[in-house]
Amino acid sequence: AKAVRLDKFLADAGKGTRSEVKKFIQKGQVQVNGTPAKKPELKVDQDKDVVVLAGETVGAAPEFVYYLLNKPAGCVSATEDRNDRTVMEYVPSDRKGLFPVGRLDKDTEGLLLITDDGMLAHELLAPGKHVDKTYFVRVEGNVTPEAVAKLEEGVDIGEAKLTMPAKAEIVGGSFEETDGSFGQTARVRRENLPEVYTELHLTIHEGKFHQVKRMMEAVGTPVIYLKRISMGTLTLPDDLKKGECRPLTEKEVTELK
Ligand code: URA
Repeated sequence: AKAVRLDKFLADAGKGTRSEVKKFIQKGQVQVNGTPAKKPELKVDQDKDVVVLAGETVGAAPEFVYYLLNKPAGCVSATEDRNDRTVMEYVPSDRKGLFPVGRLDKDTEGLLLITDDGMLAHELLAPGKHVDKTYFVRVEGNVTPEAVAKLEEGVDIGEAKLTMPAKAEIVGGSFEETDGSFGQTARVRRENLPEVYTELHLTIHEGKFHQVKRMMEAVGTPVIYLKRISMGTLTLPDDLKKGECRPLTEKEVTELK
């Protein structure tokens, strides 16, 4: 195999960004063939040299890498952008060829898969193969049983066809409570939320532009907050905070394929 720079070798093996792995090298945490390596530009050959980072042997770069990001609002689902931050800023790797699988709007949060495996991305996104995607949706207003039925049957969002049948389940919203002192009911106000709002889980099988927002608009209750919580077999872990990104586990990768 071709010899590559030590920092590149470590970064390609998924051990961190180039600047992160340079720090490991500077701190003396990297050994090559049993000797601490102090120079990031040292050439290593994966077939001949043994690279150890913090006591663990580092293998050659995997064919593909997979990351799960809890996308925060305020960044775009692209690899580059002139004006906005991109989701790639949150990925702890600068491996070439990484891209987000599908798009979440700039103001949408939640699960985003980032990989360099084009075949898998195609499998997940190709029309007709589209995997289920579930969103936590908060809308202004009251989602009636009629609206739920409509979402589940298909709604007109101005395309040639209605949306494909979805699954809609109401999971929360504003509620009334008895006012202790007067014995009357009053709406409980939550800070920064409209007086009447509804929260639901909406599962769709397609990925039209702004689909969830357009579906909710079509039934008269505009989206005020949107977060993806699952995509196919992948679910957003509760402990992955906004802006955090971690590699998929082997099990997650296997299930996804
Ligand atoms: N639907 C939307 O409207 N926006 C998203 O970001 C994802 C699905």
